[in-house]
Amino acid sequence: MGARGTLFFRGALYDHPGTEKLFLAAMRENCAFQYRNCPEYRAILDRACFSPDQLRGREDLYRLPPIPTLFFKRHRLRSMRGGLFHTTSSGTSGRQSRVDFDLGALLCDLAMSLRACAAHGLISPRPTRYVILGYQPHRGNHMGVMKSAFLSTFLAPAVRRTYALTFREGEYRLDMEGLVAELRRCAGQRCPVRLIGFPSYLHFLMQELEHRGLRLPMPPGSKVLLGGGWKQFYRQQVDKPQLYAEVLDRLSIPEEAVHEVFSVVEHPIIYWDCPRHHFHVPVFSRVVIRDPETLEPLPYGRPGLVDLMTPLLKSAPLLSILTDDLGVLHPGESCGCGCGAPWLEVLGRVGMSEIKTCAAGAEEYQRGERG
Ligand SMILES: [Zn+2]
Repeated sequence: MGARGTLFFRGALYDHPGTEKLFLAAMRENCAFQYRNCPEYRAILDRACFSPDQLRGREDLYRLPPIPTLFFKRHRLRSMRGGLFHTTSSGTSGRQSRVDFDLGALLCDLAMSLRACAAHGLISPRPTRYVILGYQPHRGNHMGVMKSAFLSTFLAPAVRRTYALTFREGEYRLDMEGLVAELRRCAGQRCPVRLIGFPSYLHFLMQELEHRGLRLPMPPGSKVLLGGGWKQFYRQQVDKPQLYAEVLDRLSIPEEAVHEVFSVVEHPIIYWDCPRHHFHVPVFSRVVIRDPETLEPLPYGRPGLVDLMTPLLKSAPLLSILTDDLGVLHPGESCGCGCGAPWLEVLGRVGMSEIKTCAAGAEEYQRGERG
């Protein structure tokens, strides 16, 4: 087993000091692989005068050139032929990224997901009804959020799956009637319910129940699992305490049974919220906040561009990606939940102009126009 496998299969989920060397070894191993197999990435590293064997300490991670996610939306970089499984971004900005999983990455991803789900009490033998606040699976849909939501319906045996966005006559439609009818059936039964998906649709559903004057207490053991952000509904976004209050009021599901995850397609590491709803960074990744102008790493507490690092994927050089999210990294102790790993606060999207500048910079590097 290489450094990547050891990192994903063993050890505590949030022990950064104990996994520092292993993480660096896995990054170095992966970087060397990308350097050998992806000519475009090799050109970017050569131009930045960076070679994979320079990854020896934490500061070297900061020096590894981050690739903007927008760059992956425009160019398909590959280091391997074909993949066993692939996901795409939702493409709300018009372009999609595609990420292929090699066999090793799939196994690591599975190990990571099962370990995190077990730690959050989501693996259960109890038959469960699932209400998916997102897309119904369909042949032509490869969105990461849809696949993750569907896969999570196997954590407890599924009695029934109901979808907010159903695929009919060639397009997705929001089936609010179907959701309300399913919640009516669920209320008062013994079988727990899991509502999984976008926070926006959960909010719309709670508003609908309020509008109809319905309070439908869900059976004990019911849970809510949110992910994917508000996307095109950012104008209707409500803050987390309000959403938890709505869920408690309408469905009698307490705040501690509401979990949220953060992830991006180009960086398929799942960040789970802690009891205080903060996204601590697991050992499978490192987060660096960068100054939007200079790309220099910023200290704790300073907002900037979110740079996400992981050695998970071999199929493409996704070691260090610069997202279009603005965020702040906080020291673990400042949360108060007892987890020592730093936590990431996502503040929102940055203006596209800054990101385009970064992506254009990477393109120039690739063509050899900068250096
Ligand atoms: Zn915490």
